[in-house]
Amino acid sequence: MMWTKCLCLLWALSALCAPVNKQRQRMLLISFDGFRWDYDRDVDTPNLDQMAMDGVKAQYITPPYLTITSPTHFTLLTGLYVENHGVIHNMWFNTTTTEKKPYYQTLFVNEWWDNGSLPIWITAQRQGLKAGSLHFPGTSSSYQGEVAMVREVEPILYNYKNETAWRENSDKVMGWFRDQDLDFVSMYFGEPDGTGHRYGPDSPERQEMVKQVDRTVGYIRHLAETHGLTNSLNIIVTADHGMSNVYRNGLVEEITLSAIPGFSFRDIAFHLVDFGPSGMLLPKPGKLETVYSALKGAHPHLHVYKKEDMPEHLHFAKNDRILPIILWADPGYVINGYFPVQFHKGEHGFDNQEMDMKPFFRAAGPAFRKNLEVGPFESVNIYPLMCHILGIEPEVNDGHLNATRNMLVTSTGTRGENRSILQNTLTGIAAVAGFLAVVFVVVTSRQILKRKRKDKRSGSVQHLPEEENTKQTGF
Ligand SMILES: [Zn+2]
Repeated sequence: MMWTKCLCLLWALSALCAPVNKQRQRMLLISFDGFRWDYDRDVDTPNLDQMAMDGVKAQYITPPYLTITSPTHFTLLTGLYVENHGVIHNMWFNTTTTEKKPYYQTLFVNEWWDNGSLPIWITAQRQGLKAGSLHFPGTSSSYQGEVAMVREVEPILYNYKNETAWRENSDKVMGWFRDQDLDFVSMYFGEPDGTGHRYGPDSPERQEMVKQVDRTVGYIRHLAETHGLTNSLNIIVTADHGMSNVYRNGLVEEITLSAIPGFSFRDIAFHLVDFGPSGMLLPKPGKLETVYSALKGAHPHLHVYKKEDMPEHLHFAKNDRILPIILWADPGYVINGYFPVQFHKGEHGFDNQEMDMKPFFRAAGPAFRKNLEVGPFESVNIYPLMCHILGIEPEVNDGHLNATRNMLVTSTGTRGENRSILQNTLTGIAAVAGFLAVVFVVVTSRQILKRKRKDKRSGSVQHLPEEENTKQTGF
């Protein structure tokens, strides 16, 4: 009987000390292109407000420079600044042939994306999770020969603002979670960027598009409920950059490079200008100083830097793809090449310290605390946050979990640090309990054997039951 009691005690202790089987954590990362941090201030956004009540709202986030779509989205997927992940522009280009490809065509240039960094889909899959992506920049590329397990790239000339298509895409992604058991999906919507460019960030059209975004967020969260995902799915809703008004029609002195004294496109081997407020130049051999000194200080709202002198906070220098001279304009201005050809009322691509470039951020789900507003943080920190929630080991990145850890409920991270601490504690308790049980059994056995020998000497033999003998050998 004593052996049975002893074993029961041990089993009870083991059960008590076994690691807690935590709720699985999944992640849906949603980007609404060009959703500036304050777009919810002049529009009723009941669903975004509800999401903030149910989770976390950041005052704003800071995107990496260059504040345009593909570079900033690849930062969300890798946690790396643009100079470190190498997707330095929306446009693929070849300085030798002077060929350029626009945004959509560049999505399909594999080597532009697959240049040494791994997006979270691949890292998650290598660690046993299942990942998917819909329309997110970078989805069509393979990385070291691997692709997201489930993926969809938008067709050419896609209508990025059709709300019916938004709902169909939301249905599709929730179906991936439910029916294909995915752990991570990134999802992209091309608005309110397009409307912000065309009509300007202060326009009623942009306000209407924000209402459409809000309805879509409500629809997605409702789908999560009806698909039975509420207890496992975490949703982050954010954006790649903001949007700023552009002034022209005599309101400002426009920046046109060909009109600057001493500057000539004959000194330039390759250029990327007429692309909002940003530009890059490759001077012909021996012409760097001529070009630089002509442009530097030529316009009070034009910033001109040699690559090696770039301000540190922009993290946009240490990459071979970045051209030797970098230009950007102050808000309100764009950089024209030969003559003004840009007619957008809104633009992005400015310094990432400009408030107009800051995107919004909301997060809700079982990993996140409720009704919490946090201060601003850099978007490089979203990647380690997602890895932590998913319980995967991140690649080397420029973010820090400490920047976002305060958003999390303490038990989050299925394989993360919190669980490690808990698990280590429980394992320690289990080891001590096991050791004490073994000591107890050994001591008791010795006492019984002593008593047996004593009984034998005194002539009365007492047999232990066979079952208990057998189990004794198991220790
Ligand atoms: Zn964008």
